[in-house]
Amino acid sequence: MVLERTFSILKPDVTRRNLTGKINEKIEAASLRIIAQKRLWLTLPQAEAFYGVHATRSFFNDLCAFMTSGPVVVQVLEGENAVVAYRDLMGATNPANANPGTIRKEFAESIEANSVHGSDSLETAALEIKFFFSDLEIVG
Ligand code: ATP
Ligand code: MG
Repeated sequence: MVLERTFSILKPDVTRRNLTGKINEKIEAASLRIIAQKRLWLTLPQAEAFYGVHATRSFFNDLCAFMTSGPVVVQVLEGENAVVAYRDLMGATNPANANPGTIRKEFAESIEANSVHGSDSLETAALEIKFFFSDLEIVG
């Protein structure tokens, strides 16, 4: 049992459909605590910097356009094994492959508009949390 922090984004398809509460209900039901949260409209440079690891991928420009198409909610989640626990709750990147009960199976519209982001490792989580939040904004 290890208490960890991970980083979460509720993507523009979620804010557009007014589903932030429904998704956070699932996050909290999975014993993940939302210890920091804010609503933002990302600029293109911010989206490009955040998804920089995907800069050479064919879907990069479309992904950044989607992520700047409306507001997002960025969050820090804390819980036991939070990185893997939240990835499991999110489900597969492509909702067609996501397991029943996962956020993406229930809510995602497509492989691109797939409702949520979650850090893929503890190291990435630390970097992504720092990208959006100062220590003062994280209240565990
Ligand atoms: P995320 O990083 O958002 O948590 P992930 O780790 O499951 O998702 P990545 O491979 O990191 O998936 O891809 C980042 C995001 O890019 C995906 O969540 C999705 O929005 C988009 N994406 C990934 N693959 C494709 C694709 N083949 N076509 C269109 N968009 C894609
Ligand atoms: Mg990823």
